[in-house]
Amino acid sequence: MNCAHPIDAAVLADYWLGALAQSEEDAVEEHLLGCDGCGARLREVIALAGNLRDLVSEGSLRMVVSDTYLKRVAEEGLRIREYIPPDGSVVECTVTAEDDILIGRLAANLGGAKRVDLCICDERGKEQIRLPDIPFQPGADSIAYQEPINLAKAMGSGKMIVRLVTFDESGGERLAGEYTFNHTRSLPGPGA
Ligand SMILES: [Zn+2]
Repeated sequence: MNCAHPIDAAVLADYWLGALAQSEEDAVEEHLLGCDGCGARLREVIALAGNLRDLVSEGSLRMVVSDTYLKRVAEEGLRIREYIPPDGSVVECTVTAEDDILIGRLAANLGGAKRVDLCICDERGKEQIRLPDIPFQPGADSIAYQEPINLAKAMGSGKMIVRLVTFDESGGERLAGEYTFNHTRSLPGPGA
């Protein structure tokens, strides 16, 4: 069970949640094939995932998530609220006390993109936060954006605009999608 280069527990957790970049995932997979020690540690990480709900509600997971991650959390019995706005659309959204995870699946043509940034803008379209170089699968037709659920539950009613920006090989920037979320607060409390 001895391993000269044990994989970090956080990396094993990200691997299980499908949160690693493809190259990192391949490297972990290859290591696990030949290493029983790390395989055993991976099973420990999975056993600890009873705390997945805490991890998710703390918003400690990356804001762009994979289908593997969504499959895992659904298997854990967490409740996912998902909106699937097409490019250029306005979506009426909310969050309820029962929701564990809030996902905006942003449909976009990412063909030819070398890099994708996700921009969160205020109601006037002024950029507030940019997540540079988010993970995406080549040929993917959408990005699953996770809004931290505690943040969403505390949010007052209002409008948020999200943009996907792509960069091609020569560094040319292109707007690949814009989505307007009209959030209506449905929970009592401050900001209601
Ligand atoms: Zn190992």
